[in-house]
Amino acid sequence: MEIASNLKSVLSELPPQTRLVAISKTKPVEEIMEAYNAGQRIFGENKVQELVPKYQQLPKDIEWHLVGHLQTNKVKYIANFVHLIHSVDSLSLIIEIEKMATRANRVINCLLQVYIAKESTKFGLDEQELVKLITSPSFLACEHVNVVGLMGMATFTEDEDVIRKEFRYLADLFTKVKDTYFKDKEDFTELSMGMSDDYHIAIEEGSTLVRVGSKIFGERAYNQPNN
Ligand SMILES: *Cc1c(COP(=O)(O)O)cnc(C)c1O
Repeated sequence: MEIASNLKSVLSELPPQTRLVAISKTKPVEEIMEAYNAGQRIFGENKVQELVPKYQQLPKDIEWHLVGHLQTNKVKYIANFVHLIHSVDSLSLIIEIEKMATRANRVINCLLQVYIAKESTKFGLDEQELVKLITSPSFLACEHVNVVGLMGMATFTEDEDVIRKEFRYLADLFTKVKDTYFKDKEDFTELSMGMSDDYHIAIEEGSTLVRVGSKIFGERAYNQPNN
């Protein structure tokens, strides 16, 4: 009941160009079903070992997103069903996704994760690494990896100016990268930014995918490592 009304209140705040990824990590399938029964179809998890059993147990019209750091040796477990990987941060990971997507006879949509925070614990590429990656011959040769945008996580802080600056930087980088490298790629459209505490700011700065967990499902029982 609470989940359905939380979901409804978050959805009511989203402009038409922004979609909600309901982050269900650590939450049981029963609670995910509450959101599902209220109409939500896009869910995100940050761990492969949690994503796989939930995929197996839950309705097949759910679009599953992986939002957490992905190790190359785990790509094989999700390649046959994952809809969008938000957290691609290396060429070696892309090459593995290409290999496993080819084997699964699929094209896998991915976002490149950019490092925008002031915290060294967070993952992601800097601008120079991003450009190097998207211009590398082995990236350009991939036929089963479809890069549809960028993702970033802001610094964990109360200071809204800091958060806004980081999101604005990512939005500007998105436009620059699109205009320079993906000009004719019509599906390079996604900007994944914003979580429970900062999605309002992310929306104002142009987010197309907000990743909201605790605001919908309540606080998690244990702390997750940063991604
Ligand atoms: C957990 C998580 C979220 C959601 O966090 P909340 O603060 O609960 O909304 C979003 N993105 C990533 C990458 C996460 O790991």
